[in-house]
Amino acid sequence: MLAARFHAPDRPLALDDVPVPEPAPDEVRVRVRAAGVCGTELHFTDGLYAPSRTPMTLGHEAAGTVDAVGSAVTGWAEGDRVAVYYYLFCGSCRWCLRGRQNLCLTPRGVLAFAADGAFAEQLVVPAHCLVRLPDELPFEAAAPLCCAGTTAVHALTEAAVEPGDVVVVLGAGGVGLAAVQEARRRGGVVVAVSRDDARRSAARSAGAVAAVSPAELADTVARLSGGQGADVVVELAGVTATLELATAVLGRRGRLVLVGYSADALTVSPLGMVVAEQRVIASVGNTLAELEQAVALAAAGQLAPPVAGTLPLTQVNEALDRLRKGDVAGRLVLTP
Ligand SMILES: [Zn+2]
Ligand SMILES: [Zn+2]
Repeated sequence: MLAARFHAPDRPLALDDVPVPEPAPDEVRVRVRAAGVCGTELHFTDGLYAPSRTPMTLGHEAAGTVDAVGSAVTGWAEGDRVAVYYYLFCGSCRWCLRGRQNLCLTPRGVLAFAADGAFAEQLVVPAHCLVRLPDELPFEAAAPLCCAGTTAVHALTEAAVEPGDVVVVLGAGGVGLAAVQEARRRGGVVVAVSRDDARRSAARSAGAVAAVSPAELADTVARLSGGQGADVVVELAGVTATLELATAVLGRRGRLVLVGYSADALTVSPLGMVVAEQRVIASVGNTLAELEQAVALAAAGQLAPPVAGTLPLTQVNEALDRLRKGDVAGRLVLTP
């Protein structure tokens, strides 16, 4: 089968012909029909971090059909339409038992990080990582739910957004546009921030009352909050410039939700944060229940991470180049 694999940083992914993987007794094999291209892919190709081994098939947003089931698997059959939870959780550690599979202490792997991922014709995962897709949800719409959509659901759940909250979303890529939709659904007054005009336009379509450049943010938040500052800032870039912007516009009891990251540091004034009783919340990925929730919201037409285009798997490097340039308004989806 064809697989787009990472061999080393600063090199295109290789289109390798690899053996079709066989499921273990508790695993299923999925025929990948759509695979979203996430910004995290660039963290590998650009050398911010390395997968646990090389070569590694990248991609952690997979939707497709069950292709083969292990001997001990019940409840799934060939042809079932599924989305894949990319964190291959153990199911028995203290965090899995609390429903926080994103914090699993002993995962079998994580797609693209420590298990071959979605940029392939087939992949193998534990059966408990599957979420059933309703027939009306196309694979191309479902794949971006697996990271972009559910990451947004998790971040805004952690932020405890309430109706009327002024919510700033810093960054309007795949996760950012889904965060705009989800914040809006929860009744937030959403301000999106992007340097890119097409992304600002996409953010307005996703439900932002304002979509502005970084330089316009402070005035916009002041106007919409009556000078009180933002109740929530969802930070998706994680670089010094946007972190400083985030803390500058945060209001009393404001929640700064860190989703994006880089090698840059977050610098805050304890005095400023304490007197305003602000909180910093870190949000990583999503739980299995939140992927199920994202699929249900999508089926109900309430969450739809915009798809910027679909390409065959063979054009994966072109997709990564477009994403690196920062001019993709939504998710690019590969169709292996
Ligand atoms: Zn992702
Ligand atoms: Zn676990």
